[in-house]
Amino acid sequence: MYYGALEAGGTKMVLAVMDEEGNTVSRISVPTRTPDETMPAMLDYYRGFSLAALGIGCFGPLDLNPASETYGSITMTPKLPWRNYPILSVFEKELSIPAAIDTDVNGAALAEAELGAARGTSVSLYVTVGTGIGGGLIMNGKPVHGLMHPEIGHISVVPAPEDPSPDGFCPYHAHCLEGLAAGPAIEKRWGQSAKELPPDHPAWDLESGYLAQLCAAALLSFSPERIILGGGVMQQKFLFDSIREKTLELLNGYIPARLLGHLDNVIVEPGLGTASGITGAYLLAKGAALGTPDRRG
Ligand code: ADP
Ligand code: ZN
Repeated sequence: MYYGALEAGGTKMVLAVMDEEGNTVSRISVPTRTPDETMPAMLDYYRGFSLAALGIGCFGPLDLNPASETYGSITMTPKLPWRNYPILSVFEKELSIPAAIDTDVNGAALAEAELGAARGTSVSLYVTVGTGIGGGLIMNGKPVHGLMHPEIGHISVVPAPEDPSPDGFCPYHAHCLEGLAAGPAIEKRWGQSAKELPPDHPAWDLESGYLAQLCAAALLSFSPERIILGGGVMQQKFLFDSIREKTLELLNGYIPARLLGHLDNVIVEPGLGTASGITGAYLLAKGAALGTPDRRG
């Protein structure tokens, strides 16, 4: 039995076919252009296999209200050709197989909770710090949806006094986390690629401070046992220790130390490396094949 997995990103689409055990049978990636250009290529690829179901971890925001007529559509993305695109129903109709969709980060969070760094926990948060900042929250084995889905990248954080761009660069919000701490914000602020900034550059002190504000807010809001930080920017591994240190400073002893330790086991790297996203899509496909009745999970 094969399952189709799609990690639909704003820059590229990663398509995989996996077997019952989760082994990858085939995998390709195609650039994200318009639906007219990109959808036929993806459909052709999946038609080459006999699939039981398809799972999609998709950039958002998405309509994930199962009562909505536009369930499974991409909504107000800045990628204009994809705005209001009914990606789930097109795949379902064209491939005539069950399909399931969730946000890319909810998918990654699910994979980390089932198979990665958050195994055995009841509440965990997966955050990607890359082109944007997004988070997927798992409670009791299921991604949280609610009114829409969490958009934790856009919470307001307190700008550092020494930040030369204290309002950040989000077109929607002054000093939101994504606008201050996503990869492009670092690059706009310093006029240099984040990859090339040396570890002693002041960029990183700001970065760990902003991500610590996220971690403290998340610990106080949801009480996660694990906060997994992934994405391109977190390739700078030295950030982890300073994020942990600053999170403890911000909490100021309010959450008992015996629960937090030094946060080494709370604020962690992804257990699945860069495979969390595609593995999440695979798990969504498995759920769709079983005919999970409540699509909200
Ligand atoms: P996406 O978010 O588009 O899926 P990534 O998670 O790779 O992709 O994030 C891309 C962003 O992360 C870019 O802004 C890039 O500058 C930044 N980035 C990628 N690799 C690194 C790195 N090694 N160190 C710091 N920043 C990085
Ligand atoms: Zn914002």
